[in-house]
Amino acid sequence: MSERYYLDTLLGPGRVELDGPEAHHLVAVCRARLGAEVRLFNGDGREYLARVVAAERRRVTLEVTEVTAPQRELPFRLEVAAPLPKGDRAQFLIEKLTELGVTSFVPLSTRRSVVHPREAKLEKLQRYVIEASKQCGRNVLMEVKALEAWEEYARRPELPAQRVLAHPGGTARMTLATHAAAALVVGPEGGFTAEEVERARSAGWQLLDLGPRILRVETAALVLAAWATATNHSAPSEPEA
Ligand code: SAH
Repeated sequence: MSERYYLDTLLGPGRVELDGPEAHHLVAVCRARLGAEVRLFNGDGREYLARVVAAERRRVTLEVTEVTAPQRELPFRLEVAAPLPKGDRAQFLIEKLTELGVTSFVPLSTRRSVVHPREAKLEKLQRYVIEASKQCGRNVLMEVKALEAWEEYARRPELPAQRVLAHPGGTARMTLATHAAAALVVGPEGGFTAEEVERARSAGWQLLDLGPRILRVETAALVLAAWATATNHSAPSEPEA
């Protein structure tokens, strides 16, 4: 796949200017020459094949020659909600959820989570989403929603029917319907309080145990998201007679 660039602008056939860090990356890092082919995306689900027609140090002019809409999104809505882990682990989590095709991520505040406003900066998280999308070929960005209190989130009426909360000692072991819309929730490093878990249970959330070892927030979130998106490519499409 040729290099992919993100532009926060409407795209269509014809000329488009690239400036700032993306232009610098194209010219100085990738040493793009006139005529070089790149792919552009803006999150609208399409991919725009373009050619370099003029290049300066911090400004590149491209000509969009072809518009395609490759299907790389999950055919169902998948939302993951978790308190943000600190520093690099937050970046790791956001990158991997993007790669897995998660529709939206909700940073949660819970009784035992410490909120770090700097860590939760939406533009920073959005930047990780864009970087991961450039690499993995996603043309729709994972939405990073605003920080939300777990009590509010747990009661949201518009959540999918399948609502799963990972909790050590939870009742079920890995019973997650794959390829169905879902909201997946993970608690903070200190865990959910008994009251928070009870409230989830009474609001209809399924409690899921992920095994005998305690996983970090990002591991638990990725196990759930990978499970929900897993496909069995070798499965026959029709049941055997
Ligand atoms: N000491 C805490 C562990 C927190 S780990 C406790 O005992 O609850 C952070 C979060 O990851 C948990 O709140 C839970 O959502 C998830 N998690 C970690 N390990 C898990 C496991 N084995 N089963 C289910 N959820 C787990």
